[in-house]
Amino acid sequence: MTVQQKIERVREVFEQHGESLRDEPVVARLMRELESHWGSSWRLMEETGIVSACRHCEEEEGGSCCGRGIEDKYGEILLFLNLLWDVDLPEDRLLQDSCHFLGDSGCRLKIRDVLCVNYLCTAIQKRLTPADLARVQQVVGCELDTTFVLQETVKRLLKSRCGVAIL
Ligand code: SF4
Ligand code: SF4
Repeated sequence: MTVQQKIERVREVFEQHGESLRDEPVVARLMRELESHWGSSWRLMEETGIVSACRHCEEEEGGSCCGRGIEDKYGEILLFLNLLWDVDLPEDRLLQDSCHFLGDSGCRLKIRDVLCVNYLCTAIQKRLTPADLARVQQVVGCELDTTFVLQETVKRLLKSRCGVAIL
């Protein structure tokens, strides 16, 4: 399936079942947990200088690491989870040589693949002390763990309550 086909399918499923899923206590709790991890992660990325280094790279060096084709790593479930946060999944890519999800101010997604969440280029890795690198990895690990639990929970609920299989 192309990324556009996946987006079309998850929009249809979300239209029918999205609101009732959001109301599930377990889903609401995991969403709050993830938001808290994002907050911690953002604070740490700012504190360690990653945010400013990436901004400089994007604005001054055109050096985005979000290349064309990475969108194909995304299965329907991750795209579906983004709809829980009302992310506007784009129909067209903004830049021909970049990932389908790259927007004017960075990634448009809230829920991202492990490949995107984990990625730190060599230049960034060299800037960080081993202790800071370990802290970043720990925070990122929490985000990925909660994302995985949310993903499996939503898949299970969709299957058992709505008879919908999503990959
Ligand atoms: S991770 Fe590295 S290549 Fe990617 S935007 Fe940041 S500085 Fe640039
Ligand atoms: S971070 Fe976002 S824009 Fe960048 S490659 Fe990943 S999905 Fe694409």
